[in-house]
Amino acid sequence: MIHLRTQSEMDTIAHAGSIIGRLHAEYATFVKPGVSTADHDRVSEDFIVEHDGAIPAFKGLYGVPGSVCISVNEEVVHGIPSVHRVLEDGDIVSIDVGVKLDGWYSDSAWTFAVGEVSEEATALMDVTERSLTAAIDASVSGKHVGDIGAAVMSTVNGDGYGIIRELVGHGVGRELHEEPQVPNYGRAGHGPLLREGMVLAIEPMLSAGTPRIKTLEDGWTVITADRSLSAHFEHTVGITKDGPRVLTRADSAPAAMDAASGVAGGTLEGAVPAPEGG
Ligand code: MG
Ligand code: MG
Repeated sequence: MIHLRTQSEMDTIAHAGSIIGRLHAEYATFVKPGVSTADHDRVSEDFIVEHDGAIPAFKGLYGVPGSVCISVNEEVVHGIPSVHRVLEDGDIVSIDVGVKLDGWYSDSAWTFAVGEVSEEATALMDVTERSLTAAIDASVSGKHVGDIGAAVMSTVNGDGYGIIRELVGHGVGRELHEEPQVPNYGRAGHGPLLREGMVLAIEPMLSAGTPRIKTLEDGWTVITADRSLSAHFEHTVGITKDGPRVLTRADSAPAAMDAASGVAGGTLEGAVPAPEGG
């Protein structure tokens, strides 16, 4: 069943989402060489729980061990935070964050460059982010879920990138994963009708090589089958009469909610060790 949400329900999802948006902004300062993915997990959890009683949505869900999923280089999604995985100059890292607040979920992911990265990595991140923007622009009442996937495909088309098809976006609301599924491929005008009130996590995952993936022996980490680099950008988006409403930006929540909650407080500066050697 596909749920339709009221504006005030969407506002609460946006409140949860604004915490992710602010956390993503903080990553700009602490995603750097020398920091382990376990460090990122810890500071992310601290940041989430100090905001309005929010909780990290992934932890424990389906048995997920971390508060956030952190996937490095050829890892596509579901990377498990580890003290042994220390980011190095030239890595790219995808951090996927879910927040639950007042019974509502929000979900967003971003891929970051660690120090100086290759042109190939920069181009991959750029096309993935552009494909998300195109997919969001297609998320208009009266269109169909297939228009979203078609927008991803037309952005990527011909550039030699792989679109991961085995992993898809999804509805978001009282559950992290609801109907409908939102594939990153499709035909315009096909699939479920997009209607005002729908809330969707739209999340293109691309590789610099094959679209095929496999799961590592840890049972979680999904990598590209050819170990090519992968990038992942995701926003939770509401379908409204005024067009797509991105719910997972720092400023997504109504100003009154921010003022009441003090969600602007809190910073991660100094929360993680400086990289060795400066
Ligand atoms: Mg996600
Ligand atoms: Mg998602």
